Amino acid sequence: MSTTDGELEHVVIVGAGIAGCHTARNLAADHEVTVIDRTGVAAEATGLSAGIVAPTLFYSDVPDIARHANAFFREFDGTHGFEFTRRDRIDVMTDDEVADARALAQRLADEGFPVSFLGTEEVTERYSEFDFDEFAGAVLYEDTGWVDPYTYATALQSAAEDRGAEFRLDSEVTDIDVENGTVVSVETDMGRVDADAVVIAAGWRTRDLLPDGVDVPIRPYRTQVIVLEPDEPLTEQFPLGRIKSEHLYFRPEHNGDLLVGGGHHPLETPASASKDADESFRLEIADSVPEFIDGFGDAGFVNGWAGIDAASPDTRPIVDAPENAPTGVLVATGFNGLGIMTSPVVGPTVRQRLTGTDAGFPIEPFAADRFERIDTSFEYVSTSEI
Ligand SMILES: Cc1cc2nc3c(=O)[nH]c(=O)nc-3n(C[C@H](O)[C@H](O)[C@H](O)COP(=O)(O)OP(=O)(O)OC[C@H]3O[C@@H](n4cnc5c(N)ncnc54)[C@H](O)[C@@H]3O)c2cc1C
Repeated sequence: MSTTDGELEHVVIVGAGIAGCHTARNLAADHEVTVIDRTGVAAEATGLSAGIVAPTLFYSDVPDIARHANAFFREFDGTHGFEFTRRDRIDVMTDDEVADARALAQRLADEGFPVSFLGTEEVTERYSEFDFDEFAGAVLYEDTGWVDPYTYATALQSAAEDRGAEFRLDSEVTDIDVENGTVVSVETDMGRVDADAVVIAAGWRTRDLLPDGVDVPIRPYRTQVIVLEPDEPLTEQFPLGRIKSEHLYFRPEHNGDLLVGGGHHPLETPASASKDADESFRLEIADSVPEFIDGFGDAGFVNGWAGIDAASPDTRPIVDAPENAPTGVLVATGFNGLGIMTSPVVGPTVRQRLTGTDAGFPIEPFAADRFERIDTSFEYVSTSEI
């Protein structure tokens, strides 16, 4: 099935975040592609991301999606200046969580993923810098890692440009023009651009560009990061991880610092939200990290920031034509704090929607019609709960 009438030649992508850049690289292989961004590449959520890659965990219910995403980071590694840093991940579990965690580890291992459950003794032996006293063990993922999100986006831009895509930056899309129910062009502050299809990958601003009577259930939320300098630089074996009960995740930096993320909350007025981490979040991190990890007694605060992403009711993105959308209009939004690791599936999903070419993994989890109704005041669910 395809969502365009007639020949698909020119695709306009609104937004040069990770969703737009990945789609551009994919479609530019055999289409004319123009990416338009109101500021620059990776200028919003993408550039502020922690860059953690753990699709095996977050798509554990759809293993082919996790496999596709994992494979992409390995294939793209070393091209266009992009680097994927492989590092193990531990998801630390309390007594209450341990039965489900063991079952998850077993299911993923049965699917062929390098995942196992380690009891307190085993995990302490492996990672002696952690204090696991309050915990019952951890799920160990040996296929995870991280990327520098800005470099990842610019590498995709470079790959897309090599395939002929054009990036028009500092240019805002103000409207979408429709004739006889089909998209024909977009209006920008620098003039009109003809289009056979338009992919709106504008992050939390995506709804603003949808025509009257067309909507998607996304809402903006804010999420924060703090970087700490430990007493001694972290070793090269220090894992990525998450302490679910504390709603915190962490990953090492290349220089041995520690990045800690959390502090998520939905927002009513995203445009005026502070880009700095809150003092309360900073204090929470300063209190909790030394409780769980040795060597942070005299840790220094390096920096902190906050960014805004789009949440959806079920924490999965919407990569599809919304109900009643003009022919040729798609959205790719609602990445719920997982947009970097999910990005490899965005291009193939858009391609399947537009041309019918099989993505190679199930795309139903990203369908717009999976929601019974469009409710943009749904209760925000953090992916740190998954
Ligand atoms: C602090 C933080 C930590 C995160 N950590 C992780 C992580 O560890 N792993 C992970 O996988 N994900 C993480 N994420 C989530 C990830 O960064 C996002 O899900 C992802 O970047 C969303 O990409 P996007 O392309 O949808 O949106 P964005 O990156 O926000 O891009 C949207 C683009 O659209 C442009 N735009 C908007 N309106 C218009 C318009 N009218 N005309 C033209 N251009 C327009 C904007 O300028 C912007 O560049 C994190 C996010 C934050 C904020």
